[in-house]
Amino acid sequence: MVKRVVILGAGYAGVRSALTLETAGHRDEPEIVLVNKHNYHHFMAQLHESAAGVTGNEDMRISLKDIFNETRVKQIKDEILRILPKDNRVILGDGTIDYDYLIVGLGSEPEYFNIPGLEVHSLTLRSLNSAKLIRAHIENSFASFKSNPLRRELLTIVVGGAGFTGIELAGEMADWLPKLAKEYDIQKKLVSIVNIEAADTILKGYDRKLIENAYEILRQKGIRIITGTAIEGVSESEVKLSSGEVIKTRNFIWTGGIRANRLIALSGFTTAARGRAKVNSYLQSVEYPNVFMVGDNAFIVNQATGEVMGPTAQVAIQSGRLAALNVLADIRGEGLREFNPREMGRVVSLGRKVAVGKIGREYRTTGRVAGLLKEAIQWKYLFSLGGLRLVAKKLLQ
Ligand SMILES: Cc1cc2nc3c(=O)[nH]c(=O)nc-3n(C[C@H](O)[C@H](O)[C@H](O)COP(=O)(O)OP(=O)(O)OC[C@H]3O[C@@H](n4cnc5c(N)ncnc54)[C@H](O)[C@@H]3O)c2cc1C
Repeated sequence: MVKRVVILGAGYAGVRSALTLETAGHRDEPEIVLVNKHNYHHFMAQLHESAAGVTGNEDMRISLKDIFNETRVKQIKDEILRILPKDNRVILGDGTIDYDYLIVGLGSEPEYFNIPGLEVHSLTLRSLNSAKLIRAHIENSFASFKSNPLRRELLTIVVGGAGFTGIELAGEMADWLPKLAKEYDIQKKLVSIVNIEAADTILKGYDRKLIENAYEILRQKGIRIITGTAIEGVSESEVKLSSGEVIKTRNFIWTGGIRANRLIALSGFTTAARGRAKVNSYLQSVEYPNVFMVGDNAFIVNQATGEVMGPTAQVAIQSGRLAALNVLADIRGEGLREFNPREMGRVVSLGRKVAVGKIGREYRTTGRVAGLLKEAIQWKYLFSLGGLRLVAKKLLQ
């Protein structure tokens, strides 16, 4: 009987799994079903551009129909409510689906660390809609300032967290806000951006040189960076810091922590740090060998270095591919392969024309070169999704 592989989530990991099953599978085996709540794949790692009004929503997403045109991948647009791994079944908003193999790539959600007021009073950047909301919220604040000129907190943008999401967002805001101020006839000097980080450095875990370069660029852009300082409370109009400082703001965006989609723990999988599922070196869930965890959902330890892999698009793509190959190997009675992620280089964009990066042993810090490099990586990614056809379509949009 033909085996059915169900993939949950059409993010970086899920889409790569589906494409790998399509290309490496036999003509009609296995049956491949991809379930996602939207009928498009969004480029999560670029959402900060959308939040800062730089890139339109259409540039941030690609329809699943386009990616899987003329493939065997069946798509279901629905909300996933629960996985029942003992029954090999997934409960959807509108029905259920049974599987022989399951690949879980449902991504992350914000982690609020029980900080008072944080969940209620912060904007987050986790989807195209949340990016749109940030943009509209800030535009609305600028518009309100015109009739409330004493309320400077309307022009203060505070970004909580200085990992790559927070840094990229702050960098992008620094390019956008002066333009917005001009549009609303507001003096640029009244606008401020503050980026707060509890760790002793921005971009914790990155190379020292890359961090130093990022610091310098962000300061040149006029961003106030506060490190080694925790956020202790957030209200509608202010952020309280462990240093005792209170920053007045009506625009607080939280990027300081993520945890795996709550469905992982809710469905009874054994989890490790931040709700990510424990997996073996083949990416199988530790209790259910027919369930593979990928991307942000898996707690992956690099076998070569012993290091826990961070939640990144690179890891998502590589784990999605390996899970698909291991499903096929299992169906064919072959041995499974261990996950050995490759570091493909890091590029952190800091606004429109500046980025810092590390490719191989070289540090590239000069704006345009690194910026172009990021573009090139994105185009290469798009190309890998559907080749020339998709690239041409995007270019013609
Ligand atoms: C602003 C920002 C910038 C980033 N920059 C970088 C970067 O420069 N480099 C890098 O490597 N990484 C970056 N990342 C991290 C990277 O985007 C994530 O690690 C990556 O998206 C994880 O991929 P994934 O496939 O596991 O999950 P996701 O890409 O999050 O995909 C999950 C999918 O599951 C769907 N889904 C979730 N819940 C349900 C449900 N209940 N029902 C149905 N569908 C559901 C979602 O709609 C989504 O399509 C960035 C992240 C952000 C937010």
